Amino acid sequence: MNDVDTLISGGEVITAFGRKRLDVLVQDEKIAALLEPDAAKPPAKRTLNARGLYVLPGMIDPHTHIGGGAKVFGSLEEAMRRCTQALAFGGTTTVMEMIGGEKGKSLSPILAEAVKEREGAMAIDFSFHPSLRSVEEETVSELEGCAAEGFPSFHASFEGSRGKEPLNEGGLYRLLSMGRERGIMTIIHAEDSRINEVLIRQIPDSGRIENISRCRPWFSETAAVQRAVFIARLTGGPLYFEHLGAGPSLEIVRAARREGFPVYAETCPHYLCFSEESYRKPEGIGLLKSPPLRRKEDSEALWEGLSDGTIPSVATDESVALVAEKRRRLEENPAYRVSGGLNQIELRLAVMHTGMVLKRKMPVERLVYCLSTGPARLFGIYPRKGTIEVGSDADLVLFDPNATWRVRNEDLHQGTDYNIFEGWELHGKTRVTMLRGNVLVEDGKFVGPERTGRWLPRQFDRAVIEATNTLSTLP
Ligand SMILES: [Zn+2]
Repeated sequence: MNDVDTLISGGEVITAFGRKRLDVLVQDEKIAALLEPDAAKPPAKRTLNARGLYVLPGMIDPHTHIGGGAKVFGSLEEAMRRCTQALAFGGTTTVMEMIGGEKGKSLSPILAEAVKEREGAMAIDFSFHPSLRSVEEETVSELEGCAAEGFPSFHASFEGSRGKEPLNEGGLYRLLSMGRERGIMTIIHAEDSRINEVLIRQIPDSGRIENISRCRPWFSETAAVQRAVFIARLTGGPLYFEHLGAGPSLEIVRAARREGFPVYAETCPHYLCFSEESYRKPEGIGLLKSPPLRRKEDSEALWEGLSDGTIPSVATDESVALVAEKRRRLEENPAYRVSGGLNQIELRLAVMHTGMVLKRKMPVERLVYCLSTGPARLFGIYPRKGTIEVGSDADLVLFDPNATWRVRNEDLHQGTDYNIFEGWELHGKTRVTMLRGNVLVEDGKFVGPERTGRWLPRQFDRAVIEATNTLSTLP
């Protein structure tokens, strides 16, 4: 028998479906075998000792805007180098980015250009969700072509700021009907800009930071979720809410899921770990984000949604920002217009392990489901990504569940001037990150090839539409 490339021995393999002590053989970028610890092993060129560690599938961040880091770091290439290395340090091996359409331009060449710009610049694998600026006839008919080219999902918004045309009910009806028929996921930013506008006029000093969550309140989100879910029920089209933050929104999603509609919710670590009270504190500037933070009871409802399966996906929505820049923008703009990143891409796995598994005693399989398997299935890269099976890509994370450490921005690798978890004590740390059999991160150092990340053409999985009517079953 020839030598295999890598043997990972002594660890506990965790997938969304269970946990077991198994040794993992890696050959030619793929998982070649999963063997009982006492089974005979072929000789390996390299052995990684995973004793005391979890062996997790590579994490997937399904919603980011890391291309926005080009403004912070001077070039797209530098932004991608830093962000994808930071992602790898945190155990993420696949990243998806929203790529904005331009009015009057077709999406397909914009996406092709974005792939070209990133190939050879990324440390981890990647894909995009095209983001619609408007729901014009040509754009909608183009989505089918985009799906065939490997982008079976797209993003649209009920919120109309920054020159975007807000989506209306007619547009959503068309999009979801098409999505049902062709197998395309609609990602919705659920916020009702008309409600926001009324409040912005009504509330005294509406531009002040402590008023931001009153100007863009939880019920503006819930009103938009209500409308969108109604149309999802009419059409049966697959619908994914990005960055949900409000408990009552989740109730609507949960009810639709229970009845078997393919309606899915994503949330983000900041809605789980912070609340709107933070905007009255000095660290509030760093937490400026669109949509803003919600009430404490909303955070509690979100944890519950992770636990019962209403939320199959946790993303960072990262757009990279310096706090100095947020401060400057706040001088010239009302707070409800200032957004930006929170610089948490490296911390997502450790933060969620701390919150879900340590604090709230959820099974670690659920953590894997929300950060890897769920996004992989919903966005059409499963089982190539998102699990540990023979034939899957050897994207693996050796994670130490017993490590306790304190976050210091200077120890992180994105290279921004702050992160929102500064000073937090976290439980669990990534020791090794492997992308398609290549070790990228080991012992706190980036040791792998810097630019082997590949574009992943995705293919929609019909199982996401033929949804099940139980929350506990995976999408
Ligand atoms: Zn976003």
